[in-house]
Amino acid sequence: MNAKVIFFVALVFSFGPASQAQERPSQPFLYSGGTMGTSYHIKFFGHPPPKLQSEVDTLLVELNRQMSTYEKDSEISQFNGSPAHTPFVVSQDFFEVAVLASEVFRTTDGAFDPTLGLVVNLWGFGPQGRQQKIPDAEILENSLKIIGYNKFVLDSEKSSITKPHHEVKLDLSAIAKGFGVDKVAAYLESLGILDYMVEIGGEVRTKGQKTGGHPWVIGIEMPIDRGVTAGVVPVSPGDHGMATSGDYRNYFEHEGQRMSHIIDPRTGHPISHNLASVTVLAASCAEADAMATAMMVMGADAALKLAETKGIPAYFILRTGEVYTQKMSSFMGPFIKKEK
Ligand code: AMP
Ligand code: MG
Repeated sequence: MNAKVIFFVALVFSFGPASQAQERPSQPFLYSGGTMGTSYHIKFFGHPPPKLQSEVDTLLVELNRQMSTYEKDSEISQFNGSPAHTPFVVSQDFFEVAVLASEVFRTTDGAFDPTLGLVVNLWGFGPQGRQQKIPDAEILENSLKIIGYNKFVLDSEKSSITKPHHEVKLDLSAIAKGFGVDKVAAYLESLGILDYMVEIGGEVRTKGQKTGGHPWVIGIEMPIDRGVTAGVVPVSPGDHGMATSGDYRNYFEHEGQRMSHIIDPRTGHPISHNLASVTVLAASCAEADAMATAMMVMGADAALKLAETKGIPAYFILRTGEVYTQKMSSFMGPFIKKEK
């Protein structure tokens, strides 16, 4: 078997000429670190309060403690190990993400399904580690019977979640990074920082401007394997979250076929179509993150239709052999930065 696994971190980066400012520092304040198995970057023009770095770190450690399936004692791991039919009280952040996830689950007709944890594990993309082989068909079929976010009960009064089967596992990986970006953004805003760029593992949120009135510009990378980039599509997200989901960063190959870490809940198999990446803009980065994953599952035609119906800015990169082409929803056009 010609198996290979490729991991990289950021799908996007910010770029553009440093702008001149009268009152703000001409150099941005930059802070970066690691979280959720990837890296994060914060950028803003202003003077950082003394505790900013330690408080951002604390916030992100807390988020990991809530939503990382890789941490044995995290809230999500405890929930996953808990018995069925028993309301499990979760933290406010956890519940907020769970509710947002159910909205995206409904909007996408189940293409985004955070109960896929069990199936994700069977394919070797979860905390149980790499399998690099096709799961047993019967086990897969039985797993599909018990998953489905619509079988979960969310009780907002008790802030509890009840699962229908003890083996079903929640996996919030497709939304947690975006939520983390929103949390850091909210923290910056609470400090009066209103011009910033926050990025965790390629999911981004910008607000305001760089110095000199220049907009933030984020590049959507053309997906070329092994880290070589064929080009970049410049986007000015304005005051939005922006997330990219792709099949070219995390996969293994089986008999010449690409096995992506994104699973189609309808089949229980990794997605297989010509969509290489989807970039979505939304009011929150969590929403953009979940929607980008869902659109990868849906494929370009269905996703484009949904984007037009719901007014979602979405950018698609399609792959035919070695050739990449692009499509976008009409709502994305205004955010694409025109070359001068
Ligand atoms: P992202 O990189 O945001 O697209 O998230 C991908 C991760 O979400 C995968 O590594 C899985 O852990 C999980 N996942 C895979 N397929 C789905 C799906 N259809 N709905 C929700 N989460 C998924
Ligand atoms: Mg996602």
